[in-house]
Amino acid sequence: MSIAENIPENIAAVRQTIAQAAIAVGRVADDVQLLAVSKTFGPDAVIAAAHAGQDAFGENYLQEALDKMQAVRTQRPDLKLTWHFIGPIQSNKTRAIAEHFDWVHSVDREKIAQRLSDQRPESLPPLNLCLQVNVSGEASKSGIAPGELLPLARAVAEMPRLRLRGLMAIPEPAESLEAQRQPFRQLRELQSQLAAQGIVTDTLSMGMSADMEAAIAEGATIVRVGTAIFGKRDYAK
Ligand SMILES: *Cc1c(COP(=O)(O)O)cnc(C)c1O
Repeated sequence: MSIAENIPENIAAVRQTIAQAAIAVGRVADDVQLLAVSKTFGPDAVIAAAHAGQDAFGENYLQEALDKMQAVRTQRPDLKLTWHFIGPIQSNKTRAIAEHFDWVHSVDREKIAQRLSDQRPESLPPLNLCLQVNVSGEASKSGIAPGELLPLARAVAEMPRLRLRGLMAIPEPAESLEAQRQPFRQLRELQSQLAAQGIVTDTLSMGMSADMEAAIAEGATIVRVGTAIFGKRDYAK
């Protein structure tokens, strides 16, 4: 009854959904990267997904992620995986994030970006970074307000050890496809506005298990999918 047994089938189904959603709006399936959100699932789940061809993983909780990376590396040193940090970031966590991750999606303050840049080891390429935006209708306290995005993006774009890749959002759940699309459209428009100011980026990190099709319709280049791949999360464990 292990959920891990279904991981290859689930990944195939998600890839199919992504491809159909992309083709439906005249996009190419390969332009949408699948980020497998493995939080609360163990190294075995990551390895099972890797066997199904998945190489990018998203994590929210630093210590859990570091333990998991270590376990995966020990069991399968041959796997070449990339790790994306997608959770809220406290200042005292920036060093470990800068040292162990390839991407960070959840930066919404200049101070955090500055620390990540200062702490990114010279031996590694610049840290890929998305700014998290609090798009309309979001109750969460995470994410910078759209009106404050431009000065933050300007500052981050100048930081030597960061590579500003784009924007990320986690909209409130909505039922209809049209309602789901609205905040994703807003994020895409913000990216265009940055480009018009000379800050050109290539990434829109948006869409999760319940709304990836809406996000792809609005231009998502990375969808962050947990439940549809690994099953329901059990936070009580
Ligand atoms: C947990 C999480 C996801 C995955 O959500 P699912 O609904 O399980 O697909 C995506 N993005 C972020 C930021 C998350 O915290």
